[in-house]
Amino acid sequence: MTEQPYVKRVGLIGYPLRHSISPVFQQAAFDALGIPARYELWDTPSDQLSALVARLRGDEYFGANVTIPYKQAVLADLNDVDADARLVGAVNTIVRSGATLRGYNTDVVGFSRSLRVDGQFSVTDSRAVVLGAGGAARAVVAALMIGGVAELTLAARRVEQARALLGSFSIPAAPTTTHVSSLDSSDPRLRSALAAADLLVNATPVGTAHRDDSSAPPIDARLIHRGLLVFDLVYNPPETALLAAARERDARTLNGLPMLVYQGAAAFELWTGMTAPVELMRLKALEALGV
Ligand code: NAP
Repeated sequence: MTEQPYVKRVGLIGYPLRHSISPVFQQAAFDALGIPARYELWDTPSDQLSALVARLRGDEYFGANVTIPYKQAVLADLNDVDADARLVGAVNTIVRSGATLRGYNTDVVGFSRSLRVDGQFSVTDSRAVVLGAGGAARAVVAALMIGGVAELTLAARRVEQARALLGSFSIPAAPTTTHVSSLDSSDPRLRSALAAADLLVNATPVGTAHRDDSSAPPIDARLIHRGLLVFDLVYNPPETALLAAARERDARTLNGLPMLVYQGAAAFELWTGMTAPVELMRLKALEALGV
């Protein structure tokens, strides 16, 4: 039997590209469905970004994933963006249709799906505290507002960054009450928000393996109560210091792996028009992480 040649290409655009497990589970999905496509890593210095994106208009491309530092910069090179990407102000997936490139932000649906399916959590009328005010926090805030969160506190080490993030959101008639706070456990705004919250989301990289700050949670763990679902967007290690502290305090926990798989599955479906083999993608992601 002769091997089928790859006829389509898709890749991850970033710089410098850190270790990513997306190629492993995306390639497994293409192979399982018999789609002759190859998922590549495109390490792209900023002066080559526009030229690379322009090449994606060629017939052999499905599109791309986009990661740090280009999720916002790439907007200028696209023809169009969907509603979620416009709301977040960032793109993590590009889809080619003819010579048209459209941007999407599948982190929003990835976050919502993992919260609903794996966290068994309903956002409607809930109270949430989100830690961090970077790109991932923007997608989380968008997803929570779309889901109808009643009260949202954004806590960051630079409070002005949290304020700016919330100020830039314009969901018409969003019924969400918003607050900002620091990450400092002596901050009364953080203490009262957490005491009343149903959901705590870590959207900072604190806790990620091989970082200096991997051994301590981003907030004082004594502020975690048993009524919380604690969702850490970090997935390596599978149980961060925050999740371990939450488990010890009888709170429910969820790590970032389901979100990673679902945002990838949503991108796969946009590129191919086919249903993604989500369970296979999850297994391959777990295998790649060695868990
Ligand atoms: P980012 O844009 O660089 O933002 C990171 C945020 O965390 C910023 O507000 C930053 O504050 C804050 N931060 C960084 N180090 C901190 C520390 N030591 N203490 C307190 N705050 C700190 O990064 P991102 O794209 O939002 O990603 C954040 C995390 O989410 C990463 O670990 C990423 O891997 C993860 N993520 C996971 C998924 C998934 O599918 N599971 C998807 C997206 C992102 P400053 O601005 O002050 O530095």
